[in-house]
Amino acid sequence: MISDQKRTKVVIIGGGFAGIEAARFLGKNSLPVDVTLVSNSPCFQYYPSLYRLVVGASVNQVSIPLSKTLPKKVQLIIDTYTAIDPARKVISLQSGKEISYDYAVLTLGSEPNYFGINGMETQSKSFLSIDKALALKQHFSDLLEKSKTLSAEEIKIQLHTIIVGAGPSGVELAGALRPYLVELAKKNAIDETFITVDLLDSSPRVLATIPEHASALVADQLQKNGITIYTNYGVNACEDNCVIVTDKNTNTENIHMKAGTIIWTAGTKINSAFANIPRVVMTDKKRVQVSPTLTLPTDDSIYIAGDGAGTQFSGLAQTAVDHGQYVGKTIAQRIAGIPTSPFEPKQGVFVIPVGRKWAILNFKDFVMSGFTPWIMRIMVDARYFLSIASLGTVLGMLRKSTK
Ligand SMILES: Cc1cc2nc3c(=O)[nH]c(=O)nc-3n(C[C@H](O)[C@H](O)[C@H](O)COP(=O)(O)OP(=O)(O)OC[C@H]3O[C@@H](n4cnc5c(N)ncnc54)[C@H](O)[C@@H]3O)c2cc1C
Repeated sequence: MISDQKRTKVVIIGGGFAGIEAARFLGKNSLPVDVTLVSNSPCFQYYPSLYRLVVGASVNQVSIPLSKTLPKKVQLIIDTYTAIDPARKVISLQSGKEISYDYAVLTLGSEPNYFGINGMETQSKSFLSIDKALALKQHFSDLLEKSKTLSAEEIKIQLHTIIVGAGPSGVELAGALRPYLVELAKKNAIDETFITVDLLDSSPRVLATIPEHASALVADQLQKNGITIYTNYGVNACEDNCVIVTDKNTNTENIHMKAGTIIWTAGTKINSAFANIPRVVMTDKKRVQVSPTLTLPTDDSIYIAGDGAGTQFSGLAQTAVDHGQYVGKTIAQRIAGIPTSPFEPKQGVFVIPVGRKWAILNFKDFVMSGFTPWIMRIMVDARYFLSIASLGTVLGMLRKSTK
């Protein structure tokens, strides 16, 4: 009988999309399992909406304390993972603590990738965490305040923003940023025509992974929102409020583009801590090579889930959720002695909002744009939050989102 078995120790590292799902699955069943989740942040951060923090949303619209989402059975430790020792089956934390495991689930997510571009990491801003998004919002507020004392020529540069990267994060931010800054300018009695936003990408089109006609619709919508798009523009360096680019359309090198704010959204890579796992092998796409059941090929007690795992469609929130649920279920099956089946990757629906009340939806070859996908995106976000938080919390978030 299951109740007579020894208790199995599962340690999950990371409280993001994959980690929460695995913990919730294991924490809700009646198996003899002790589940511990270690995260370096006390809150779950909903990355797809972080850009909204920059343009005025509040922190509680894009994050939830982990303690409110995890079942009581799950022990939460706020600490930073530093290493795993598969021989001793022990995980080390920054505090010096060691935790032993029967199964370890590593869901450490991603970090920005600056591709070694000179000066980009130190000179540009980003919004890939709550702290960075809030700092960027404060930067804009300070900039508007400071502009009151500058000459027209200086204001023009200070209130000019360059967003590098026309992927989902860059497009979402660009669409929302200009209307927000125009409102701020009006409040500060500054001529709104000084607010200018450029979106730069080295690809020939914005959102290069969706079908070409969908990408054209997005570019059109961005332009309607007053954004200037530069495609085929490769950034070589960033220095002193200036990006140095090559225009691949005309083969012109060393173009200096000045701005008061430069925002980097052009790349992420998997958390560098994944590379320190003993005997880890990376795929061509620089993710961790996993077996069909998402374990390390060399050790079936270590699971990799979320952005780190080298499966089809990795790098998306829905895939991380699917990984987390699969790993939780598979570990439960193994504890109960039930045979497991391989993970089956599923393609998610892609919905990207651009400005107010307009979004693009893409699933395989199907494309839809306008108000309906915008509402659908709100529903998708709300549905996800409903799956991990109480109705009251989600209704509060939804009310603020539709404003
Ligand atoms: C700005 C932005 C916008 C995005 N927009 C979209 C979108 O619109 N649609 C979409 O599908 N995907 C989007 N993504 C991608 C999506 O967010 C990721 O695919 C998803 O978060 C991956 O889930 P994960 O569980 O692997 O990692 P995460 O959700 O990143 O969770 C990782 C967790 O690990 C913790 N952690 C990290 N290092 C340590 C450590 N050393 N010790 C302890 N804990 C640690 C972190 O605090 C975090 O809780 C976006 C990502 C970003 C950054």
